[in-house]
Amino acid sequence: MAKTRPPKKILESYTIKGSDKVIKPGDCVLMRSADTSKPPYVAKVESIEAAGSRGTNVRVRVRWYYRPEESIGGRRPFHGSKEVFLSDHYDVQSADTIEGKCNVHSFRSYTKLDSVNAEDFFCRFDYKSASGSFVPDRIAVFCKCEMPYNPDDLMIQCEECSDWFHPSCIGMTIKEAKKREHFFCQSCTAENGKTTENFHEATGQSEEKERCYGSDACFGPVVDPFKRERS
Ligand SMILES: [Zn+2]
Ligand SMILES: [Zn+2]
Repeated sequence: MAKTRPPKKILESYTIKGSDKVIKPGDCVLMRSADTSKPPYVAKVESIEAAGSRGTNVRVRVRWYYRPEESIGGRRPFHGSKEVFLSDHYDVQSADTIEGKCNVHSFRSYTKLDSVNAEDFFCRFDYKSASGSFVPDRIAVFCKCEMPYNPDDLMIQCEECSDWFHPSCIGMTIKEAKKREHFFCQSCTAENGKTTENFHEATGQSEEKERCYGSDACFGPVVDPFKRERS
């Protein structure tokens, strides 16, 4: 006996059960993980549809954000605790698994937040889940250790070359760095002593350093120096 399935109905919004939070396509949400010991998944809602009659059985088509530990390369020292990658991995999930709304900020706007709440995340890389590669595959690096900026770590800026430094990489405590009103890095101090005349010419333009972060192979040499200070 052929029975026609009820037609899918596209919904414009969905209200999270037991709350007044309304989810719309384009919103970012936290979705319950089957493993309750794990933090909720972060996803972007692409569309919402009801398969059952009377608008029941609501399903959401989502695009997953991966946490660094879910990526092939794993979590790196420069990954922030609230960092996620926009993946190319789509899925259809029951709307029942939505726990709440969240905000995935651009890196720039995340670093400008006055306070970071539990629902605040940031994304600076797209992630290809099949190959484990990132877009962009190059990112600016800072400090003597040449690491990308981790917004969880305090850094101090040299007033001359504008590079940023981890206090631990320049033999300073975090307390000292916070109190410091002026800071000139070692190489700027050294150059200043030697060549006072063309000092500004020599260092006025700081070259932006970049490193390849596109694939596993590229991570190695840059991460190594960082390990030194963590061990
Ligand atoms: Zn450093
Ligand atoms: Zn400097």
